[in-house]
Amino acid sequence: TPTVAIVGRPNVGKSTLFNRLVGKKLALVDDRPGVTRDRREGEARLGDLEFRVIDTAGLEEATEDSLLGRMRAQTEAAIEDADVILFVVDARVGILPADRPFAELVRRSGKPVILIANKAEGAGGMAGAYDAFSLGLGEPVPLSAEHGEGMADLFEALMPHFPEPDEMEEEEADPNKPLQVAIVGRPNAGKSTLINRMLGEDRLLTGPEAGITRDSISLDWQWRGRPVKLFDTAGLRKRARVEDKLEKLSVADALRAVRFAEVVIVLLDATIPFEKQDLSIVDLVEQEGRAIVIGLNKWDLVADQQGLLKDLKEKAVRLLPQVRGAPVVPLSGLAGSGIDPLMKAVFQAYETWNTRIPTAKLNQWLTEAIDANPPPAVSGRRIKIRYMTQVKSRPPHFAIFGNQLDALPKSYSRYLVNSIREAFDLPGTPIRVSLRMGQ
Ligand code: GDP
Repeated sequence: TPTVAIVGRPNVGKSTLFNRLVGKKLALVDDRPGVTRDRREGEARLGDLEFRVIDTAGLEEATEDSLLGRMRAQTEAAIEDADVILFVVDARVGILPADRPFAELVRRSGKPVILIANKAEGAGGMAGAYDAFSLGLGEPVPLSAEHGEGMADLFEALMPHFPEPDEMEEEEADPNKPLQVAIVGRPNAGKSTLINRMLGEDRLLTGPEAGITRDSISLDWQWRGRPVKLFDTAGLRKRARVEDKLEKLSVADALRAVRFAEVVIVLLDATIPFEKQDLSIVDLVEQEGRAIVIGLNKWDLVADQQGLLKDLKEKAVRLLPQVRGAPVVPLSGLAGSGIDPLMKAVFQAYETWNTRIPTAKLNQWLTEAIDANPPPAVSGRRIKIRYMTQVKSRPPHFAIFGNQLDALPKSYSRYLVNSIREAFDLPGTPIRVSLRMGQ
């Protein structure tokens, strides 16, 4: 894990920042008798960044005459060990002569440094921050270690210095990798027919009396020059067709296909839509965290197409709140219509599923969302949401930091998820939120 050193003259708030980063897991390393508490170390976490943090603050209690020399030695040692340095100044009082020798040590080390203007909360908080530019250590990040403000900006500043934690990132980068698409749905929804039509050949047998279809579970296809791997369950099911086990089998098969997929097309029979089994298939896709598109098949059999589409879109919103805004596309596998809009929706859903929202934007939004609708106090406990970051994509996963979050009502989490969807245009994709306390 990377090491971060907190450096600066006495009284700028290094210990407070250290405590804020380390939280309750505070570890005093050099607490043996006879050893001064010159150096504290702890395991810190900020967003999804995990690091070792070294504080040089213990010396603030030392006597004046010995202070500077010892602090200097400590600071040098900490800088030596660090991958990144947080250089802390006091945003209220500005830069004092005492800041300069420490800044000089940092500069000479040539290591990456983040300049922190601490105590920046409230009015007048930034009075001395402009001074800080004169140190030549770059733009200061305003922060209030005591109040926990500005931690998202600190996260943003630290992140580039850390190795990329998300192993999914690489997968996204390769444009030649086929998009993995599963087509799932109740028996007779028309999955095989649709796949046949997509492939433009009778590679699967369809119809009620179809026996064996094929062995492989995936089929390679191209849509407008883009490679697509189709996963389907119909073949497997039909081979093992046993009427009384039908329901069970199709769900197990669906799960299998869903796990392979990035985007899942849930195919409904538009003449008998939103049956119980359809809803549990959508549930399953959501739980597996896949991007989702709803296909309304057999549209050729529908008389009042406009009326039904409106009706089914409303039903989708009501019956499938967990994937609010998921695209609903009418089509006919048999007639071969609607496949283009379907695939457009599939690629769009894939983009949405991959969305990454910068921390700064997210927190701008969060402040507004909380202002508009503050979290309630629950049995006298004041819930405080401090900031959030996106820890993963595919599907988008957010971590919310604050105090007493275990008391946060489910309805409030839902409010946040729904507003994130709206604000950042994330229709239909599953969204994950984890609550983290202590920072
Ligand atoms: P699967 O079990 O989901 O693979 O469903 P099949 O593809 O085997 O289709 C079941 C039945 O529905 C067959 O009789 C198909 O001909 C019929 N079917 C499939 N798609 C359509 C469609 O778009 N329109 C109409 N009218 N019938 C369809």
